Amino acid sequence: MTEQIDPDDGQPHGGRFETRSIHAGQEPDGETGAVMPPIYATSTYVQDGPGEDRGYEYSRTGNPTRTALEENLAALENAEYGRAFASGMASINTVLNLLEAGDHVVAGDDVYGGTHRLFRQVFEQYNLSFSFVDTTDHDAVLSAMRPATELVWVETPTNPLMRVNDIAALADIAHDHDALCAVDNTFATPYLQQPLDHGADVVSHSLTKYLGGHSDVVGGALVTDDEHLDERFGFYQNSVGATPDPFACFLVLRGTKTLPLRMDRHCENARTIAERLDAHPDVSHVYYPGLDSHPQHDLAAEQMRDFGGMVSFELDATLDETADFVSATEVFALAESLGGVESLIEQPATMTHASIPREERLEAGLADGLVRISVGVEHVEDLWTDLEAAIEAALA
Ligand SMILES: *Cc1c(COP(=O)(O)O)cnc(C)c1O
Repeated sequence: MTEQIDPDDGQPHGGRFETRSIHAGQEPDGETGAVMPPIYATSTYVQDGPGEDRGYEYSRTGNPTRTALEENLAALENAEYGRAFASGMASINTVLNLLEAGDHVVAGDDVYGGTHRLFRQVFEQYNLSFSFVDTTDHDAVLSAMRPATELVWVETPTNPLMRVNDIAALADIAHDHDALCAVDNTFATPYLQQPLDHGADVVSHSLTKYLGGHSDVVGGALVTDDEHLDERFGFYQNSVGATPDPFACFLVLRGTKTLPLRMDRHCENARTIAERLDAHPDVSHVYYPGLDSHPQHDLAAEQMRDFGGMVSFELDATLDETADFVSATEVFALAESLGGVESLIEQPATMTHASIPREERLEAGLADGLVRISVGVEHVEDLWTDLEAAIEAALA
């Protein structure tokens, strides 16, 4: 449970989380009084004299709609600085841009697939090296650390088995080795978990998921309290150019206003669904940090405000029966991705994790009957009826 900023304590982003999510970074427009930040659809800005700009000179470098979003995201993470990117992958790429040939990275062995691909297939060719370890096992993390380790990359909760990693402990390990600790906070969102307050140096987001919240935009962000890191991120925004356009920034800003409302309902619905699945005779295991049976339930309760909207479970079923099940739901749409208001369902073995050979996949705990759901904000009884009916249809 993170301490809320007092509205009168002179913080740059006043107000409690719900207030900041609506107002931070967004003053009514000085000229027209427009309550919402305009979408500044402009590539360039007139200068009052050569080299005398009014804070903006070119929209890759900076755009007022993007600034509003960056300030809003920083405020949500209790951070000093925020930078927006064209996608979550672009923001992760930017963290890796900090490193030099010869550097080493320790990352979770169940990080997002795109992160794994970026590390192995893009950055290894620049002579960076990576160790993927179970980051819930701190001895394994410690023994993976080398003198050349410059970054510890953490996700929590992880995908699709919803492991919960101890941010404070992993940040300590990183700092003891003069490495940075970066946390991908996409699954939890800043409403549920604020990694900088637990000692992380950088937080990365895919804005495409809960922060956008409506499955209509792709974006990414990095937030930090470190001025030097923020300057580097700004340098890479400008030099690499993977920045979001102002319309995308506007959509994410519209999403973050309702983040607390949506997350409360996502969490409430997910908890109900997880508990009912746990009691269902055709379900052999439920992976949800909010269940007492979850191995890191206590840590999750300490580190997070609530347990999130993602639930995975194992059906007592074959690969084909499980494929039938995920095809049979009507309210849950069969799709990858997560974090929108609508509920989604997917089978990791045939979809998000299909590229992993079966033996390796089973060893990693990703059974043929494993199903991942992104529980939306629809009426929970409609969601439950849908799941129950689809289980019955597939396993009949
Ligand atoms: C989706 C996702 C990403 C990648 O973000 P994009 O916006 O799709 O580029 C990174 N990390 C996690 C945990 C994600 O879920």
